[in-house]
Amino acid sequence: MAYRKYNREGFCVEPMSAHKIENAAFEARKLFYHDGGQKYLNVMDLIEHKLPQAWESFHLDVVCPEDLPGREAEFNPFNFCIRISEPIYEAACNDDGHCRFTVAHELGHFFLHRNQIPAFGRPAKGGIIPAYKHSEWQADTFARNLLVPRNLANGMSVPEIQTVFEVSHEVACIVAGEQVKPTYIPHPTQLSLGI
Ligand SMILES: [Zn+2]
Repeated sequence: MAYRKYNREGFCVEPMSAHKIENAAFEARKLFYHDGGQKYLNVMDLIEHKLPQAWESFHLDVVCPEDLPGREAEFNPFNFCIRISEPIYEAACNDDGHCRFTVAHELGHFFLHRNQIPAFGRPAKGGIIPAYKHSEWQADTFARNLLVPRNLANGMSVPEIQTVFEVSHEVACIVAGEQVKPTYIPHPTQLSLGI
């Protein structure tokens, strides 16, 4: 059977369908925001306050760009630490859609992979892992659903989704089911396992 490939570096992780990831993102949202109808997610409040309160082992590090060469952020599954480059952190605090997605992507690694990467993950060469087993596809799918739950965006236009949920044009297009050009814009976040 042919599966869609995900042409980025990443790790082979436990398989998850898009539907299962959507549910995981929904449950993560509910943990911190009890009002199910709230559209905008304050992802910085989540990562700075709510998540460390809920999981003592989780911590956030804002670092100089030189300490994360070529990357915007990373998740270390060995110590449950998300490191974010300072400019990305500041932009995310100012509701930059791309940088909010970067933070949500790392949260995807925390929620989906924190207990399995050291045991099950393995380095992969670009493009050989089917999307449903690809750490980066899973984290991207989680991020999109965390920031924009589909049921809350029903019937909304791309500009509306962008404004209401504070996400990038690319993410809004994907949620709205429109063609994005290019079809996928990667961002340089990676797991911190030597790739
Ligand atoms: Zn990643």
